[in-house]
Amino acid sequence: MTSTRPPARPARSASTLGPVTQVRPATEGWTQKKDAEGRPLLQFASPKRGKPPVHLADLTPDERVEKVKELGMPGFRAKQLEKHYFEHYTHDPALMTDLPSAGREELVHGMLPALLTEVRRLQTDKGDTIKFLWKLHDGALVESVLMRYPGRITLCVSSQAGCGMNCPFCATGQAGLTRNMSAAEIIEQVVRANRLIREGGLGPAEHPDERVTNIVFMGMGEPLANYARLMQAVRVMTDKKHGLGMSARGVTVSTVGLVPAIHKLAAEDIPVTFALSLHAPDDELRDELIPVNSRWKVDEALDAARGYFDRTGRRVSIEYALIKDMNDHPWRADLLAEKLNARGRGWVHVNPIPLNPTPGSIWTSSTKAAQNEFVRRLNDAGIPTTLRDTRGKEIDGACGQLVATEEDERVAAATPLED
Ligand code: SF4
Repeated sequence: MTSTRPPARPARSASTLGPVTQVRPATEGWTQKKDAEGRPLLQFASPKRGKPPVHLADLTPDERVEKVKELGMPGFRAKQLEKHYFEHYTHDPALMTDLPSAGREELVHGMLPALLTEVRRLQTDKGDTIKFLWKLHDGALVESVLMRYPGRITLCVSSQAGCGMNCPFCATGQAGLTRNMSAAEIIEQVVRANRLIREGGLGPAEHPDERVTNIVFMGMGEPLANYARLMQAVRVMTDKKHGLGMSARGVTVSTVGLVPAIHKLAAEDIPVTFALSLHAPDDELRDELIPVNSRWKVDEALDAARGYFDRTGRRVSIEYALIKDMNDHPWRADLLAEKLNARGRGWVHVNPIPLNPTPGSIWTSSTKAAQNEFVRRLNDAGIPTTLRDTRGKEIDGACGQLVATEEDERVAAATPLED
């Protein structure tokens, strides 16, 4: 297995503040693109590239009926296609024997065009975690990670090819934003995972109707930077009559803090789980760690997160990757607790995420003692805090680590697109 982490440089940009060591964020082995003022470049707009073909999952139920009629079939065929796609996880006309054979191929290709070509699949030894590498219609590469836990199956999906948020620790952000994914490209990741589960690819099923129960938008991309397609995908995931019929609570939308979009999300009538990737409670560090903090500061992001709780009643998650001597100081745990408690009680919990140890890199795991102290301080301050499972890291599938390697690119180039 190839690591996607950039090569580590031994240099540590550390300064010593009395007894406290403060490592400052810096890229390793690559150079962050900068804007005219010398700040890390943020890309919000998707570069213009050929759009993927329109697919049933991009459309509202009414639009699906219209499109089916345009293709010369009666509108009720849309419902049959929904059933094949969202319940049987297929887009193969040969399996759709309830559709008339005359015109079936054209109808299916018109409504369910192929969107993802599987390039690679990496599976852990135990077989309960699988990382997929997908090629999109224009050759862009994205990944998703499927994880089985007792009683649930989680899929970490990508929402953009690349990412424009330029976080210095993140492999995905290095190449910038390639393009937004369509809603159907997001949904297809779930449908393909469900198909694999049904075929037994994730090991013996706990029950016959087993499928993905939880979605986390923590793969490639900043989901709130692709808002309209994200929301269409979420609607399809949660639609019981015309979609996958998943529970909104099982869908987690994670952001580095695009505040206006957090407000918009709160105003939608879909109570998804909301996660804010904070990683630092002070602007001084967060400006460097999460470049979008130059637009929306820690307090604004936390106010928006609290607003999400007020509108939806859903407890917010604060994601906090613990990085040795960079953001894991006891005073930062105290400051985080103070800022969260200042906004009330019972609205939030914190998920510190232990990084993998990466010797020689500034992006390495906190010591166990530092992790425990960080968690203890938050819990003592009344903030429910639990160290998160980092299963995906075994196959470089954890947040901020999803990126195609040169080997992936080579294999992808040699893989013909599915039709
Ligand atoms: S950490 Fe997330 S938001 Fe930041 S560059 Fe990576 S994928 Fe984008």
